[in-house]
Formats: sequence, structure tokens, C-alpha cells
Amino acid sequence: MSRYVGPVCRLCRRETAASKTGEKIKLFLKGDRCLSRNCAVERRGTAPGQKTTGKSRTKVSEYGRQLREKQKMRRYYGVHETQFENYFREAARVPGQTGRTFLQLLERRLDNVVYRLNLATSRAQARQLVTHRHFRVNGRIVNIPSYVVRPGDVISIAPGSLKSTVFEANLEIAQSRRPPEWLEWNDQDKTAKVLQAPPREQIDTPVDEQLIVEYYSR
Ligand code: SF4
Repeated sequence: MSRYVGPVCRLCRRETAASKTGEKIKLFLKGDRCLSRNCAVERRGTAPGQKTTGKSRTKVSEYGRQLREKQKMRRYYGVHETQFENYFREAARVPGQTGRTFLQLLERRLDNVVYRLNLATSRAQARQLVTHRHFRVNGRIVNIPSYVVRPGDVISIAPGSLKSTVFEANLEIAQSRRPPEWLEWNDQDKTAKVLQAPPREQIDTPVDEQLIVEYYSR
């Protein structure tokens, strides 16, 4: 299945327009722009193609809500449909709350971890940096963005990459932003340790994972 290559801000505007509470949904797909006044959700909260108000003209069914939530989460992490479904199946096999396990699996992807450590401005950039062999896990180069980290894993930047312009800029940002508590950043040797599986309260993904469980359980 091909990756979406259209304007990504449209995706955020769609989710915001679908939000029942009128909450601004940001998927953070454009790096620093997402935090600026140029963010399309800040400027226009309407759905793509909708000129005046963000109000939906049709009543959304329960299935529609579940589908929207699923799409939102998939786009947030930038994962293809088939891979996303595979994560769900894997989570469903684990005893306990499927929704939470599902979210934890996505959160533990190496590209997401790089983004959470503020070593990339977006998940798309994180994915590219991982693919270009800039990261090591436990001393070994890992160039697979979907690699799932485990508690105890140590993530480091390849020594040759530290002096590149992109890392110089990103490391400066990383110094001023704190990663979530399940990750420990060591600024001295530019490494990070995975302390534990991410607890739900430390995952700020704006998603109701229960709706996605219901979507796949139909
Ligand atoms: Fe979404 Fe970022 Fe675009 Fe804002 S700038 S609409 S948060 S992708």
C-alpha cells in the first residue's frame, strides 16, 4: 500500500473538524511549524474543502467515530494500514487491556522513540534518520523504523552523525525539552535508556484507543 503524499495539514484539519468537543487535534506531522502560528489547525479549524464552518452536516454513526479514531491514530504514528492491523493483532494476543498494549507497541517503535527524545522534529524526519543508519540500539546499527524497543535498551547516535547539521540543530532542541519519563536521556554521552514500557498516562497521543478496539472487534 502506498504512503499518503498529499498535504499533511489536511489530515489534522479533518480530525479537528470531526472532533465533537471542538478540540483542536494536532497530529504534529510538520515539525516546528506545528508549534507556530502558521499551523493550519490554528489558522483554520475547518475540514479540507469546507469553506465556512467546521460543523459537520451529517450525523456521525458509531462506526464512523471508530473509523475516524483509527485513522487518526494511524496517521499520528505514520503507519500503513496493514502494519497497523498487525500491531492490533499482536496486541490482542497479549493478556490484559488490548487498547493499552496496542498503543504501547506503537509508542515503542524506534522512529517514535527518536521523536519522543526530541532528536527529530517530526516522526517523518525520525523515520528518515533511522533509515539512514544514524542510530544504534545496544551498540548495533538499527535502520528499521518499526523496530520495537524494550526496557533496558540503550539508544545512541552513530558517532559519525553527531557532527551533521541536522543533529546539531536537533540536539540543541533536545537539551531544552524533556522526554517522557519512561525514557532517560543522558546528555553527556548522547544516549537514551528505555526504563520501562510506556505507561498510558505518559502517552499524550490524543486518541481513545477503546474505539479502535471496538472498530477491529466488529
Ligand atoms: Fe497539523 Fe502540524 Fe500542519 Fe498544524 S502544522 S496542521 S499540527 S501537521
